[in-house]
Amino acid sequence: MSITEKQTNGSKIAYFSMEIGLKDDIPTFSGGLGILAGDTIKSGADLNLPLVAVTLIYHKGYFKQDIDDRGRQIESPAIWDPSELMKMAPEKVNVTIEGRNVYIQAWVYFVKSPKGGEVPVIFLDTNLPENSEEDRELTYHLYGRDDNYRIKQEVILGIGGVKMLKMLGFQIKKYHMNEGHAAFLTLELLHQLKNDLEDASDETSMWDFETVKELCVFTTHTPVDAGHDRFSYDLYRSVIGEYFPENILRELAGEENLNMTLLALNLSNDVNGVAKKHGEVSQNMFPGYKINSITNGVHSYTWTCDSFKKLFDKYIPGWANEPELFVRTDMIPHNELWNAHSEAKKILINYVNSLQAVNMDYETLTIGFARRFATYKRASLIFNDLERLERIASGKIQLIFAGKAHPKDEGGKKLIEDIFSYSDKLKGKINIVFINNYNMETALKIVSGVDVWLNNPIRPLEASGTSGMKAAHNGVLNFSVLDGWWIEGHIEGDTGWSIGPESTEIAPDDNANEIDTNDLYNKLEKIIIPTFYQDRDKWINMMKSAIGKNAYYFNTHRMMLRYVTEAYIK
Ligand SMILES: *Cc1c(COP(=O)(O)O)cnc(C)c1O
Repeated sequence: MSITEKQTNGSKIAYFSMEIGLKDDIPTFSGGLGILAGDTIKSGADLNLPLVAVTLIYHKGYFKQDIDDRGRQIESPAIWDPSELMKMAPEKVNVTIEGRNVYIQAWVYFVKSPKGGEVPVIFLDTNLPENSEEDRELTYHLYGRDDNYRIKQEVILGIGGVKMLKMLGFQIKKYHMNEGHAAFLTLELLHQLKNDLEDASDETSMWDFETVKELCVFTTHTPVDAGHDRFSYDLYRSVIGEYFPENILRELAGEENLNMTLLALNLSNDVNGVAKKHGEVSQNMFPGYKINSITNGVHSYTWTCDSFKKLFDKYIPGWANEPELFVRTDMIPHNELWNAHSEAKKILINYVNSLQAVNMDYETLTIGFARRFATYKRASLIFNDLERLERIASGKIQLIFAGKAHPKDEGGKKLIEDIFSYSDKLKGKINIVFINNYNMETALKIVSGVDVWLNNPIRPLEASGTSGMKAAHNGVLNFSVLDGWWIEGHIEGDTGWSIGPESTEIAPDDNANEIDTNDLYNKLEKIIIPTFYQDRDKWINMMKSAIGKNAYYFNTHRMMLRYVTEAYIK
């Protein structure tokens, strides 16, 4: 028995997420959404919040990335063995898919905080002998295959998840949907409540929408319309049509398509965007709903490198569980801060040199860019005008890239190839490397070991972004387009630098690539390169501002306290 009475005691907040990134040994995440979920859970444990998380086990992970010598991405399964890290609970539940019973069991992993709190994470698994081969494979791949596969996974997550929590003995006072993928949970809640209302007369009043709304909190994560899951009602009918009346579902989730975001919006009394700007953009996308915003954060302890942990322990004891203490960052002597940074940089450069014959050095201004290779993030923007880049930066900067493109995203994969070809063209002038198989370990190495963190998405598509917050925790300066969290964290020349105009001053179809590249080159040439090499004191003061003003605020401890007061216990 892996769940004890003590662990199910009292009523909890159930946090549902299609992906959760706790550590690389549990490869059930693809990017920022999953890392955010993992950081949320870790802060929940540190703050002793009554939280339980639900996701799927993905036996073959997202994927392992290799890159050939021309920059082409090669994908293979990231196979792992859950039994090395967690135990399977004996309880079983089932959901009906295409008329078949699909059985679900749960692996239970405990995220334990040194402060004593712990959060169980329920990993749902259909890879059981009583299921058909096809159904066993439903918990193999994260974001794999087609819509048919995806809707079934969402049935398992939403409907299976609610059933499993009940079966395991959890009492739930709030259901928090981290993105629309989990929105089927609302239908299962309607079902469970229906049994309490058996004498209701007509069909609509059988369903207790108001109580479900009270129970549900929804965080939306993308301002890209295409980023919201939509399924055809034909698919719905063939997969779970019997489960919930389609005419009522159409009222809740859209007449044309089953829109998971709409379903979540219609059945949650509390809806949040992930940064102020994103909240506004979402509000415009969905007029008629009240959309609040709680800006994302990162888990401070997880995203601070060893040399900075040591430094913070010495000068700001207690920082990890009380990041507000970063307000005292100015106490740290300049030379000790610089030494901690140099140590992190050395680790990164040694690592990079051990992977490839690049000969990067410790002294050169090093710029990092690592995240999912989705095209809107414009990974190759800095190479827009090679001649100009060469003129201003030859011998003065080195560049480190990493990131996975979704296996079906040809545009994203092309960006990786482009970076390889630019790297060839700039050989001997600007050293460029691409680190394979981006994961949490390399993320920490890069966000702490570079001098500048580059981010140049198309506005307003970066709902929040979190890697820049990780950089700030390590005194690494952000050089970023004013989008997502950076609109709130940016003070020009103090916490970092902006690229291009404010988001209100530019329409998506303006010539943003040109405008942004121009500003990027200008600032690199006139401000960033000179400051780095000629005004180290100013640079170190900026590092302190990044920590004292950005890490101070953009952490999941602050974020979770806000979810508690604005969503969970309202
Ligand atoms: C933090 C993190 C991300 C998110 O990066 P963004 O720049 O915010 O998109 C993605 N992948 C990994 C492995 C991360 O650690």
